[in-house]
Amino acid sequence: MAVVYKCRGCNHVLYSFEKVGQDFYGVRTPSEISSIYGGKCPKCGKRLGSPSVDDVQIKLREKRSRSF
Ligand SMILES: [Zn+2]
Repeated sequence: MAVVYKCRGCNHVLYSFEKVGQDFYGVRTPSEISSIYGGKCPKCGKRLGSPSVDDVQIKLREKRSRSF
C-alpha cells in the first residue's frame, strides 16, 4: 500500500509514502505536505487548497489516483 499526494493542477507528485519505516515521521497528512511546500505546488505554483479525506490517494492493487 502506498499513499501519494499529487498537485491537482499539474499532477506533480508532491509526496509519496511507499512503505512503513521509510522515514521517522511516517505517513504525513495533506496539511503537512501543504505546509512543506508553502501551500502551493513547487512545479506549477497552484495553491494546494484545504485538504480533505478525498485528497489522500490510497493505492492498493490497482493504480488509481486522486489529486489535491
Ligand atoms: Zn502543480
